[in-house]
Amino acid sequence: MKAKLTFAGGTGGPTGANFLFETSDKKILIDCGLTQGDESAEDLNREMFPFDPGAIDILFVTHAHIDHIGRIPFLIKNGFRGKIYSTPPTRDLAEPMLDDTLSLMIHEERKKGTEPLYDAVDIRQALSLWTGIEYRKEIPVSDDLSVVFHDAGHVLGSAMIEVRYGKKKMLFTGDLGNSPSSILRDTEYVPDIDYVLMESVYGDREHEHRDERRDLLEDVVKESVKKKGVLLIPVFSLERTQDILFEINELVESGKIPAVPVFLDSPLGIKITEIYKKNKKYFNASAQAIIQGGDDIFQFPKLHFTADVEDSKAIRGVHPPKIILAGSGMSNGGRILHHEKEYLSDPKTTLLFVGYQAVGTPGRLLENGEKTVRIMGEEIKVRAHTATIHGYSAHRDMNGLFDFVDQMSDTVQKVFVVMGEPKAATFLSQRIHDYLGLDAVVPRLGESIELEF
Ligand SMILES: [Zn+2]
Repeated sequence: MKAKLTFAGGTGGPTGANFLFETSDKKILIDCGLTQGDESAEDLNREMFPFDPGAIDILFVTHAHIDHIGRIPFLIKNGFRGKIYSTPPTRDLAEPMLDDTLSLMIHEERKKGTEPLYDAVDIRQALSLWTGIEYRKEIPVSDDLSVVFHDAGHVLGSAMIEVRYGKKKMLFTGDLGNSPSSILRDTEYVPDIDYVLMESVYGDREHEHRDERRDLLEDVVKESVKKKGVLLIPVFSLERTQDILFEINELVESGKIPAVPVFLDSPLGIKITEIYKKNKKYFNASAQAIIQGGDDIFQFPKLHFTADVEDSKAIRGVHPPKIILAGSGMSNGGRILHHEKEYLSDPKTTLLFVGYQAVGTPGRLLENGEKTVRIMGEEIKVRAHTATIHGYSAHRDMNGLFDFVDQMSDTVQKVFVVMGEPKAATFLSQRIHDYLGLDAVVPRLGESIELEF
């Protein structure tokens, strides 16, 4: 039996995941994400799909990051009426993530005078077609085709997607977690895989500070408290926010740091934290044990959720020391800008980076030590101290990715390395080929290949 695999997105760069798997009678899609990055990304997102959306039977979704779900409403707008399946938490998370993306789009498009890619009706329709299915439950598609979700350990609800067809199995990794995580379960081992399509975001980079990340955070907080300063932490709303809250909760409750006011000043981050609270059964054993011991891991003395604008504005009136978590994670929008504008010129301020800062973003400039930045039209002199902790990445690094393939190398026949910058993807595929002796390739965008099943 043969199947055709088309790389409709998600190759040539880390974002825009979109893979089409066709058998003789079924067409399924894996992920439908937005391409993110520079100006050319927007043109790519507006391009028509290289397939008829109306002919797709089922869309399977790995996780709720926008580069994996952000183009689903556009698929709907162009005629998709099939079913959408993901794990239940991914479905819960998709709603606020898509709504937030749409409001950002509307804001951007207004400035340019163009139309957003889709509207709220397309999002509501996507959600009406969307069903949550548990991990490890076989989802039948046809007599000889079925799908199973396995925990990827990347963000809440993240799944690797196993496609069982004929006599063989193919694994679509989505993004792979940097296990062990404080909250999530480890990336699951999936046996007897013949073909792998895997991410390579950190295919050529190592994560520093992984084991000492909590100690480093403790040092940064203590230092900031000692000088009675403001600690600003730009965070992504999904996963990093919850990770950092978990860490601060641990540090406060173990008495390692004093209880100073902590503000989660991100409406999306607050909504997502509420979804985490409702989905505790997906947490790892140690996080569940803490919860069963009576501790709410997202609640500790002096933690404030400031969803309302008035509450957000009131943060200014609270005397330091204080800690502010706000989006966006790369300081290119969101409420973090108000706080940066207010506090970066104060030498007592600490700006802490716990996430990747893409080239060209204000976050990257600040991380590189830029002394003057433009925030909301104003020149700000940077006198704040900056610090970076890399160990909180939600992605496996180069060795983690290599080990992931190594553990399944007995059965794997072919590896498709996707979702990474060309340099990272090429490096990883070369390494898999040279050291494991496997057939590993970096597919071209739009390329189709036939696979024997
Ligand atoms: Zn992701």
